[in-house]
Amino acid sequence: MKKLLLTTAFVFSSTVVAGGDVHWGYSGEVGADNWGKLSPDNYQCSGNNQSPINLAGFIEADLAPIKFNYSAMAKEILNNGHTVQVNLNSGSSIELDGISFDLLQFHFHAPSENHINGQSYPLEAHFVHSDKSGNLAVVAVMFKEGSASKGLMPAWQQMPKHEGDTHSLKAKFNGMEILPDSKDYYRFNGSLTTPPCSEGVRWLVMKTAVQASKQQISAFSSVLHEPNNRTIQATNARMILQ
Ligand SMILES: [Zn+2]
Repeated sequence: MKKLLLTTAFVFSSTVVAGGDVHWGYSGEVGADNWGKLSPDNYQCSGNNQSPINLAGFIEADLAPIKFNYSAMAKEILNNGHTVQVNLNSGSSIELDGISFDLLQFHFHAPSENHINGQSYPLEAHFVHSDKSGNLAVVAVMFKEGSASKGLMPAWQQMPKHEGDTHSLKAKFNGMEILPDSKDYYRFNGSLTTPPCSEGVRWLVMKTAVQASKQQISAFSSVLHEPNNRTIQATNARMILQ
């Protein structure tokens, strides 16, 4: 049963399906330290350009603004046992490096996976995009505890409480409502933070954290069985641009 449900975690891109049917988690035998040994398909989990990282030691760069075109409405929200994920109708994208990347889905981690200057946040959102060739770009947004996020409300009202639950979203909303007003960002080269840990992912972490209420944060973490953050990976030779 576990196997069958896990496949839903990887429907967002056929290019990252490899290894998706091997059981994994965040602790014990199937925890993050062992992902590379769980399947030959997970060989990249022990690579040198893995995510998440502690973002620090920034290199000044003239980063072009990301052009957001998040016009499509969210379609459904699901709990795949590893996260809560919102799937989008087609039609949302970002433009980066002169390339269009379609927004496929966004999902959450509690506590945050990436750290900024050594700081962890209680919640992090990942907006996962793919270009026509299957190259991935992830926009990450940090949440700090404060006032309730209006952007989260339509999805949170239909929080899927059990692994395998999928709900059609009744209220209209799109990911733009979750992003901070300022779209300044850090950039680095990383990977998927879940098996098969595929590298070559463009990571774009918003500098400005947004707020979510304590209730919103706990509403998310309470439907998962354990914290769903992979441990911080070595930065190695990578540059973190700002
Ligand atoms: Zn993620």
